Formats: sequence, structure tokens, C-alpha cells
Amino acid sequence: MCGIIGVCNNKEAAKLAFLGLYALQHRGEESVGIVTFDGKEIMGKKDTGLVADVFDEKSLESLKGRAAIGHCRYSTTGSSTLKNIQPFLAVHKNKPIAVAHNGNLTNTEELYDKLEEAGSIFQTSMDSEIIVHLLARTRNGNKKKWVIDVLRQLEGAFSLILLIDDTIVGVRDPHGFRPLCLGKKDGHYLLASESCALDLTFAEFVREIEPGEVVFINKDKIESVFMNEEKPAVISHCIFENIYFARPDSFIFNENVYNVRKKLGAQLAKENNIDADFVMAIPDSGNYAAVGFAQEAGLPFEIGIVRNHYIGRTFIQPTQFLRDFRVRVKLNPIRSVLEEKKIIIVEDSIVRGTTSRSRVAELRKAGAKEIHMRISCPPIISPCFYGIDFPDKKELIASSRTVKEIADFIEVDSLEYLSLEGMLSVMKDSRNFCHACFTGEYPVKIPSNKSKYLLE
Ligand code: AMP
Repeated sequence: MCGIIGVCNNKEAAKLAFLGLYALQHRGEESVGIVTFDGKEIMGKKDTGLVADVFDEKSLESLKGRAAIGHCRYSTTGSSTLKNIQPFLAVHKNKPIAVAHNGNLTNTEELYDKLEEAGSIFQTSMDSEIIVHLLARTRNGNKKKWVIDVLRQLEGAFSLILLIDDTIVGVRDPHGFRPLCLGKKDGHYLLASESCALDLTFAEFVREIEPGEVVFINKDKIESVFMNEEKPAVISHCIFENIYFARPDSFIFNENVYNVRKKLGAQLAKENNIDADFVMAIPDSGNYAAVGFAQEAGLPFEIGIVRNHYIGRTFIQPTQFLRDFRVRVKLNPIRSVLEEKKIIIVEDSIVRGTTSRSRVAELRKAGAKEIHMRISCPPIISPCFYGIDFPDKKELIASSRTVKEIADFIEVDSLEYLSLEGMLSVMKDSRNFCHACFTGEYPVKIPSNKSKYLLE
């Protein structure tokens, strides 16, 4: 998963891209990059780490130009190495072709083999590089035409921001798996993964880019074209963006994320309420559904765990003692709230089950008498090939264990998940969502080589 941003025709393009990425940090914490173009010179800076650690006033000043694109990465294809930091930039005919990609292509291997056969030499192990090669090879004549020709060859999930010459191009794949929105500031346009990035740059939200839409933005105008006008695809927004990934203050897929999460929590309470002293969340991911649950159930909402936001990467240490310390320092239970209480704890999802298990153990140590866990989505049983880093099927706890077995593993008194029907019932248009991770029904053909490292 990744966050992407594009700024056109603003003298502070790099600084706005930085602010946008700052707001999108939750979408990728591994590495970050910004590329700018001032009409003559192409500039860029990328590194591993968080947005605020990689860029400072001086580096942003050095990124000149009125056009900028940026990316923060959470790897889903290719390992987390220096060469795989985006935006991926190539200089072609003295002009930039750069790509910032969120999502996963599903025909990576076919395209890669074809390009390699034709002489392309790849520098990274990311599917995103393929797009740059295709663009460079296809460049001829009318820009809108050759860019669309390339995009039509891509399959899978791709929200893209491209910098081609002095044009910023925003793309959403025809299924609309990942979000992408358009904003306006001082009369000029921005593109961002989520609307929270527009808020931080003081830009006005204009609208979401439509599935299959391609917008070409330069200093004079914005033009919108559709990739497959004759053959509209099945809309397949990633439902996990709403459940966990996107920021609750963002507006994606036609709705505010916080509202959706609250509705999921309320629906969960309708399906699986139980008498308890209070409802609490595993922060922060469970907070919003827990509010909805408590309101619907008519139970008090309490904060039973405090999150420490100042946990740094320095804590990633190999010894068991330090790993335990990391769990403790991040989330600490409040004994006086929990002691002798029967609690309902709401979490957004269970993936491997290991963090939930350790949280529950902490709650017990802090004196909770009964722990009833409620999950605001159905059991995750299938991996994602469209851009969420859901592990191998065998690592997904619900793919091989019943709910009762998971409850035993996590050591809760009861465990209930939201039903698939219940989850879909709260979505504005339930037919427009991909729920493959819960059902194994993939809306786009999945790759034969399923490895995240298929290009390594
Ligand atoms: P666990 O109990 O280990 O399954 O961890 C569950 C928590 O990790 C939930 O808040 C999940 O939403 C969160 N999570 C979200 N995405 C992922 C992911 N790709 N891999 C693992 N955990 C994730």
C-alpha cells in the first residue's frame, strides 16, 4: 500500500507534495520520495524512513519547479530496498517520465517478460517500473493517445500519478480499487490518494477521480479522458480501505471513512451484542467502530488502553525482551479502568492474530475479568493481490481455523466477527466493493506467480 501526491503549477510544488505526503504517512512508512521538474531540470530526493525524517527545509528548497509528484511506500511488490523507492524516474528525450503507483498490477510477469525480450533493462524489482518502460517505448505523437495506449495494457490495481514532461497525469484503474482525488489550490490542481492530504495543503476537495478516468493537468488546463469507454469494468473499491487502511478524516469511495467505520461498529453491535460493563477499542484502528458499537448497544465507551505515539524505529531490535518492550510502550492498558470488569473490545480486523493475542494478554494482566472481542469485518481468509500486504494464505489465521479456534488462540472469552452481509449492508453501494480477502472471489484474474518478490 502506498500514498501518492501530485502538484501542478505551484511555485511551492515540492513543499506542498511534502505536506501531502505527511498527511498520507499512514499509507506507507518504509520510504518516501519527491520528484520535481522546472521545465529544464529534473530534481528528486528519496530515502528510506518517514516523510519528516527524509525532508527538511533545505532539501525542499533545492527541489525546484512548479510540478512535483511524491510517494510514500509500504511494499507490496519487491522488497524494501533503496532501489525500490518511488517515484520511479527516467529521463527520456531530456524530459522526465516519473511514476508514483499505489496498487498492484496483476499481469506483471507477462509485461515484464515482453519488455525484457524487447531489450528493456530493469533497475528495480517493482511492477511500477514496467509502466515507465511502456511509456518510453510508446511515446509518439498525441500524449493523451499514447498514454492511454499504455494504460490499456495494464491489469489489476493502479492509482497512478505520473509526471510526463510538464504534465501531471492522474489515473485510476477501471475497477477503482484504490482511491485518488482531485483538489484545487490557488486556481491550480493537486492529486492525492486521500482527501486528508488536501486538507493539510489547504486545498479544496474537488472530486474523486472516477474509475477508469485519466486526467491530464498542465499549467493551462485539465483534460479528462476515460480508458475503456466502450467496455466499463466492474467497480471494485477495496473495502479494506474503509475498514482499516484509509484515514478516518478522508472522503473516499463517495463517503467519509469515519462514518463508514461507525456504521460497521453499529452493525456489529446489532449482530453480536452482549451485556458488559463497557465497550472499548484497540487503539487506534478499532476506535471508530467501537464508538458505533457502543452507541448502538447503549453501553458506555471507555478508553482502556493508551497509545504512545512516540515509538520510533530504534525499538526494532531482535531480542525478545525488546520486542515485548515495543508492544508495551506502544499500547499500555489502564488498570483502574479494566480491573474486575467485563469488557467488549472492538478491533477492526484480525490478520495473523498475533498482535490481538498479545493485547488480550496485557488486558488480563491489567485485571480485566471477562474479555469479549468483536471484529468489525468478517474473517480474512484470502490474500490480496491488489495492493494490501495480506500475507500468504497459511499466515492468515482465519484461513485454517474456526472462529472458536481463533478465540482459543487469542484467549478471549468470546469472539464474534461482523457478517459479510452486515458489512456490505452499510456501504453506500455494496455492489461496488472488492471483498476478495473475505470471500476469495477475485474480481480481476490473479497472477499465476503470487510472490511479492516475483521480480527478484
Ligand atoms: P493481528 O492480531 O496480528 O492479526 O493484527 C491485527 C491488526 O493489524 C489489526 O488492527 C489489523 O487491521 C492490522 N493490520 C492491517 N493490515 C495488516 C497487514 N497487512 N498485515 C498484518 N496486520 C495488519
